[in-house]
Amino acid sequence: MKFTPAKPSLHGETLDSLGARLAEAGEPAYRARQILDWLYKKRAADWDQMTNLPRSLRAWLADTFDLESTALVLNRQSEDVTDKLLLELRDHSLIETVLIRAPQEGVGLDHSRKTICISTQVGCAMGCVFCASGLAGLKRDLSAGEIVHQLIQVCRREDARTPRARAELASFDNIVVMGMGEPLHNYDNLLRALTILNAGWGLGFGARRITISTSGVVPKILQLAEEPVGFLLAISLHGATNEVREQIMPINKRWPLEELLPAIRTFSEKHGRMVTLEFILIEGVNDLLEQAAKLRDLADDLHAHVNLIPYNAVEGLPWKRPSLARQQKFVAILQEGGVSVTLRREKGHDIDAACGQLRLKTERDRAAGPAA
Ligand code: SAH
Ligand code: SF4
Repeated sequence: MKFTPAKPSLHGETLDSLGARLAEAGEPAYRARQILDWLYKKRAADWDQMTNLPRSLRAWLADTFDLESTALVLNRQSEDVTDKLLLELRDHSLIETVLIRAPQEGVGLDHSRKTICISTQVGCAMGCVFCASGLAGLKRDLSAGEIVHQLIQVCRREDARTPRARAELASFDNIVVMGMGEPLHNYDNLLRALTILNAGWGLGFGARRITISTSGVVPKILQLAEEPVGFLLAISLHGATNEVREQIMPINKRWPLEELLPAIRTFSEKHGRMVTLEFILIEGVNDLLEQAAKLRDLADDLHAHVNLIPYNAVEGLPWKRPSLARQQKFVAILQEGGVSVTLRREKGHDIDAACGQLRLKTERDRAAGPAA
């Protein structure tokens, strides 16, 4: 399903595309940089803030573009330093953007490592059986502007709570494309958004600190490998054999491991950086120690890093996380094989931070409750 907003988001324009629109409207080229400065350096939320632009140009911009393609409807902060934003789009769809703060030893929250997790679609078509995002299927792709605007929302919140000098986006450590949706199914808008995040005239955020997570869309992984800008790649593996993987991820039937693994190798050889293999641990599904041994061999062969994620329960789904003892045994098998592995500490469990869960709950409440 496609949604065509009344006006395109200004945050989806690049320096070139905005320059071209301005030229058509008879405006000088230098205006494009001034406008982008208002968007990305000053985070303007209102056309009238743009005081160095003539009133007539501000009126033209307001007629032509949307300045606020997302609106904050709910902000839930959990005790364990996860900050979750529920955003509403112009068509009333809901998406999630999460800020995760990992405090460093001995310093306050303002010096914590900050990771922002962004969404790329409303819902998801991939149908992974464990995931809240995919439960209702795909509603639509996000536009490049809607992807970029999620970062603006996070920046504005940080601007309000930290002295401005430290609130520049550069003070965030990582951006992960691990929110709702399959990013590589919205490839063109994603790449345009990441270009805007990366550009000096945009948010100026280093490509090496941006990780794209995919369920394994092989042709798009190969296309991404050819891009000149080197973003990092994470693969949602979740099964170390086709038998286990295809039970929980339908995409494995389309692109089984014998196609996925060579694509991962091509990507890491092209970019010279380790790919991350994500592996959710689900009790009785993929937590057998034979899976750990197979995963160790795959990771070793690909020189990949493994990120183990204890499953986050989703209301209405039967899956559970394994015991801590089992999680640790799984880790030990990988470590003993010399594989680089992290066991993700739980973050944001109390605010439904796992993929798509806050949105799911709100959609269910909206459907159940009488309109206020
Ligand atoms: N669609 C992409 C990116 C979004 S999902 C992908 O699948 O990679 C981001 C990560 O969260 C994926 O690894 C996904 O498998 C994982 N995930 C989904 N539901 C989860 C849950 N309930 N608990 C823990 N991780 C989950
Ligand atoms: Fe989509 Fe990723 Fe969820 Fe699978 S895990 S349904 S690909 S968002």
